[in-house]
Amino acid sequence: MPAHPLNTDDFGGQMYDLSMSDSARPLLEKVVKFIADEVDPITEEFHAMAEGREDRWSWVPGQLELLEGAKAKAREQGLWNFFLPDAETGEGLSNLDYAYIANELGKNSLASQVLNCSAPDTGNMEVLERVGTPEQKEKWLRPLLDGKIRSAFVMTEPHFASSDARNVQTQAVRDGDEYVINGEKYYASGAGDPRCKIMIVMVQTNPDADSHLQQSQILVEPETPGVDVLGPMHVFGNDDAPHGHMHIKFTDVRVPAENILLGEGRGFEISQLRLGPGRIHHCMRSIGAADKALQLYCERGLTKSAFGKPLIQLGGNIDKAGRMRIEIEAMRLMVLRAAKAMDVLGNREARVWISAAKAMVPERVCQIIDAAIQMHGATGVSQWTVLPSLYHSQRTLRLADGPDEVHNMVVGRAEVARYQPQPLSGLQTGMVDYENPLQIDRIDLPSYDDTMFI
Ligand SMILES: Cc1cc2nc3c(=O)[nH]c(=O)nc-3n(C[C@H](O)[C@H](O)[C@H](O)COP(=O)(O)OP(=O)(O)OC[C@H]3O[C@@H](n4cnc5c(N)ncnc54)[C@H](O)[C@@H]3O)c2cc1C
Repeated sequence: MPAHPLNTDDFGGQMYDLSMSDSARPLLEKVVKFIADEVDPITEEFHAMAEGREDRWSWVPGQLELLEGAKAKAREQGLWNFFLPDAETGEGLSNLDYAYIANELGKNSLASQVLNCSAPDTGNMEVLERVGTPEQKEKWLRPLLDGKIRSAFVMTEPHFASSDARNVQTQAVRDGDEYVINGEKYYASGAGDPRCKIMIVMVQTNPDADSHLQQSQILVEPETPGVDVLGPMHVFGNDDAPHGHMHIKFTDVRVPAENILLGEGRGFEISQLRLGPGRIHHCMRSIGAADKALQLYCERGLTKSAFGKPLIQLGGNIDKAGRMRIEIEAMRLMVLRAAKAMDVLGNREARVWISAAKAMVPERVCQIIDAAIQMHGATGVSQWTVLPSLYHSQRTLRLADGPDEVHNMVVGRAEVARYQPQPLSGLQTGMVDYENPLQIDRIDLPSYDDTMFI
């Protein structure tokens, strides 16, 4: 029977060695100190400055200067671009080492940006660094790596179920030296930010090819004529300005043919490269968010009293704290194992591990944040705690980069495939199929190559 991909060879114990490397450990200590000394003190001020601004889609005077000041200090101290594993342009951290650092980044809403490690730029930089031409790298990767511009990844379409990327309908048609793009997209995160200067757009270029070879990814500058930002999509009523999750229409948008990434029909191939690390970075930060929520749960429970006792002593509240800690540590191991699998097996072979973490973590972290909200009473849903914002981002993660169900399907499919009879072969004799002695009917399992989010 084939082994389950989550339970394969442990590569001489490597898969169980989840410790941070000695070389990365001092970096983690520096990050923790830097966030405490330089990022925590400006976070509240940064967000407060934006309140009441007239144009929600701009930054107020002084706001970016505050951020840039912290970014400059981070860069000076070498705390910059950690996310690119084994790359010449980044710190060259392994996925496992980065997991420990991303956990710290998840505790503060500005930290990722200050250290130039925020989505969707990280995924976009990784794509450009792996498959960009020298010209594409010079024009867009360099300023992204320098933290000078920001970017968006534009795939999801409002009228088609985008968890199956074969549904992408936005067309890019070659016309001489250009592609002409027509279509509609929504939830393009980051496309509202005035600093967003490049978008990677998923398009259909080869409608007659096999279903997973029809799509391509192409670079589009937001100022190109025909790119019309129709407005922000809301998340529980919040427009998340000026970052934004934008609704965009493309009408006869002309871009140079050399803006295509890697070549026509290779969109799925690029996504498999990008989505592994992107998903796992989110999960790593999610563990940090859960840690923060549990801290707030305990602090609140210890400092408020009702019915003659601190809240933490009422009902099953101490047990709940225990269960939350147990789940956080289980999730941490799951994420570290997925990161290690990426380092040992490569992103593609580690996909079942990545899906297992992505299916488990945001759902459980939502439950933990929800418990912390409950412990705070009405304050828990108010602007006085970070809990609503933590909850929003974790709840949306259950959809973004593939909904929970798709990731459960990936793990389930690998499980079922173990027991699936092999295709008939010459071994079948008489009444008994020796490869399928229980006579189980084969069922069609979605193939790895046909599903973008896998
Ligand atoms: C805040 C936010 C930010 C986002 N940012 C971006 C971005 O920057 N760029 C971008 O391109 N997209 C972005 N998205 C979109 C996100 O990636 C999509 O919502 C996601 O891929 C699902 O696609 P869909 O919304 O079309 O849902 P659909 O494909 O219509 O799926 C709807 C539901 O169907 C069910 N379903 C689907 N497949 C299965 C299955 N195999 N088994 C069982 N049930 C299933 C699930 O319950 C799923 O939630 C963002 C979304 C949010 C909310």
